[in-house]
Amino acid sequence: MANAPGGRDGRPVTIFGPDFPFPFDDWIAHRAGLGSIPAERHGEEVAVIGAGISGLVAAYELMKLGVRPVVYEASQMGGRLRSQPFEGAKGVVAELGGMRFPISSSSFYHYVDKLGLQTLPFPNPLTEAAGSTVVDLEGETYYAGSLGDLPPLFTEVADAWAQALEEARFTDIQNAIRARDVATLKSLWNELVPRWDDRTFYDFVATSQAFSKLSFRHREVFGQVGFGTGGWDSDFPNSMLEIFRVVMTNCDSDQHLIVGGAAQVPRGLWRCPAPRPAHWPAGTSLASLHSGAPRPGVARIARESDGRLAVTDEWGTTRRYAAVLVTCQSWLLTTQIECEESLFSAKLWTALDRTRYMQSSKTFVLVDRPFWKDKDPRTGRDVMSMTLTDRLTRGTYLFDNGDGQPGVICLTYSWMSDALKMLPEPVERRVQLALSALHKIYPDVDIASHIIGDPITVSWEADRHFLGAFKGALPGHYRYNQRMYAHFMQDDLPPEQQGIFLAGDDVSWTPAWVEGAVQTSLNAVWGILHHLGGTTHPDNPGPGDVFSRLAPLEFRD
Ligand SMILES: Cc1cc2nc3c(=O)[nH]c(=O)nc-3n(C[C@H](O)[C@H](O)[C@H](O)COP(=O)(O)OP(=O)(O)OC[C@H]3O[C@@H](n4cnc5c(N)ncnc54)[C@H](O)[C@@H]3O)c2cc1C
Repeated sequence: MANAPGGRDGRPVTIFGPDFPFPFDDWIAHRAGLGSIPAERHGEEVAVIGAGISGLVAAYELMKLGVRPVVYEASQMGGRLRSQPFEGAKGVVAELGGMRFPISSSSFYHYVDKLGLQTLPFPNPLTEAAGSTVVDLEGETYYAGSLGDLPPLFTEVADAWAQALEEARFTDIQNAIRARDVATLKSLWNELVPRWDDRTFYDFVATSQAFSKLSFRHREVFGQVGFGTGGWDSDFPNSMLEIFRVVMTNCDSDQHLIVGGAAQVPRGLWRCPAPRPAHWPAGTSLASLHSGAPRPGVARIARESDGRLAVTDEWGTTRRYAAVLVTCQSWLLTTQIECEESLFSAKLWTALDRTRYMQSSKTFVLVDRPFWKDKDPRTGRDVMSMTLTDRLTRGTYLFDNGDGQPGVICLTYSWMSDALKMLPEPVERRVQLALSALHKIYPDVDIASHIIGDPITVSWEADRHFLGAFKGALPGHYRYNQRMYAHFMQDDLPPEQQGIFLAGDDVSWTPAWVEGAVQTSLNAVWGILHHLGGTTHPDNPGPGDVFSRLAPLEFRD
């Protein structure tokens, strides 16, 4: 899918900064390529821990540079882009991780387009793709096609949010992003960072001039219904900086789903032959370099006396590398992987360990057909709609796979305390709980009678290979994020800390959005290229070449 047309000056808002405004999308699309490494290092093995999107983007790009990536995976390839097929229903999946991708994710879409995957607008609340939306709060149910169909309270809330954001110069920042005006963007953003690092999203809403004029109920409804994709009260304790990034880079608008499932992106990169790779024969792919499957999960990372990094897998096999890229969640470096302490500074360990994860649960059912489009003869309305509620289910999403095809209902997608309520329950009970909540909203619709096949559920926090869905930075976490993000710049590190790189959602400035994971993985590619003695093309400088000029603001501790 090509990126959509932009605003005022015709350029789109992309996830360009704001912390590190480097044009990753241009870098990876440039005809000069990402650079070159000395011929004597061609074929050199580099370990990539984790076959999620960040691991596989890095492995793919490193392969093109003539390196031999050795990918390790402890669980399923694709990581948190996990599309679980419903048994028997060809091409119909439950998206257990990432499922709606803002078109501002321009580096991610570079790979989506490369793989020729089809995308469609995601059926978010109050969008054309959803058709209709039901908002059910405190027992009152409202049916709407768009915001204007809801009672005035909802428009007041939406207007207050827009005005509150202007208090942080939202439009000016978006214009700077559109224009890729780094100087203006940095000056506006760097003013917000110290002001808001210590403060929560809720603090911002409650103390904004716009919401201060309104009732508590307005704040509450804002939390329950949110902006763009659904309720945001689960994020109220998070650092406000994180929310600014989401809205300023349009993460929360114009989202698409990937037809057939998001896991096709990492899995596609695994199989995709590298076009004109350095060193490797035409047709080489990550799959062909690995005899088909990644190596097993990693159990240990240590430094050998000759300076190389030794990676031991769970079956006890040790291989030695000049460079290692770690893309799994950072807590796993203390729970799943025995990682030598001297590989990172004490300050970096603090950052890795303080990472805070959000919980998330989803439960899906396959249904015989998209019955929700049937019209209620009394009202002429859809019998069921995309539903936002303060009940247990929180968000219910309806996926129409076309007439004659089974439909999919995500009965409930929730975060934090709402996800924890589901945690101890088996899938059948989750379905029952969700159906019972939805029955109160749709007393005349027998959803259960449409269910076919087995339901599918996930709680990311219950999986030992994840321990949570994604990072959600708390107030005061900016420093930790800055340390992790800047770690790919290693020239000033002591030799015993060089050669091990970090990438992925935990390192990203926009956690919970795949683009951030992709961008950190491209930083790591630059770091590894540099570590192996390579350089970028003068016409296409990489993130490390311009880091000193664009670097995220650094605080004194
Ligand atoms: C519920 C949910 C909803 C989301 N929704 C969206 C969305 O709508 N839009 C969006 O843009 N993004 C969304 N995201 C975020 C997006 O999915 C992530 O940012 C991205 O997939 C993270 O990729 P990654 O490579 O950083 O990590 P991962 O995908 O977690 O990859 C890391 C890999 O490391 C593996 N691993 C763990 N331990 C080891 C070990 N010891 N050895 C080897 N391998 C190991 C793991 O199994 C995993 O495969 C969502 C995520 C979740 C969980």
